Amino acid sequence: MTTAKRFGWGLVALLLIVAGVFLSLVRVTINPSAPANSPPAAANLAITPAPPTTDRVPLAIPVSGVSAAQLSDTWGQSRGGGAREHHAIDIMAAKGTPVLAAASGRVEKVFESANGGHTLYVRTADGRTLHYYAHLDGYGVGEGAEVRQGQPIATVGNTGSAAGGAPHLHFEIKAMQPGERWWQGTNVNPYPLLVAAR
Ligand SMILES: [Zn+2]
Repeated sequence: MTTAKRFGWGLVALLLIVAGVFLSLVRVTINPSAPANSPPAAANLAITPAPPTTDRVPLAIPVSGVSAAQLSDTWGQSRGGGAREHHAIDIMAAKGTPVLAAASGRVEKVFESANGGHTLYVRTADGRTLHYYAHLDGYGVGEGAEVRQGQPIATVGNTGSAAGGAPHLHFEIKAMQPGERWWQGTNVNPYPLLVAAR
């Protein structure tokens, strides 16, 4: 092997090393926010669908005249003599106070239940969230109605398990998987979302 050839192979090796370093830098910089334990770079580059716009719209406090400062976090409290946990927020108000739609959507179900009394289930337009309003005194909308955020949809009462007690709105937020129906879903704490309400 001549000196010139040895020099040539050395140059090729050097170029390969430089190229390798360059490529590893590129892979890091195209994914600046990727966590350390993330899958390979190719998976991170997959296009993720934009989150639905309703997720970014702040909720309205669902009782007329109630401010964020007046809310208290009643998530996780014991109910039914310890039989169940409270996965909702209770918003105290005088009987007959308008209940307002926390978000726009469609009334999926009007339902009478032993615990909830008169209740409404309203699903957001993207189908991913269900809002449940319970212990209502009266209804302002029927099944299938389209409602706008802030629209009066019912009145505060003490029906169901609240009978004989202080009138209040029992409000739940359910995260819905595709295909889940009005009696399904996974409850999330409304309090932090309502404190950030408009
Ligand atoms: Zn409640």
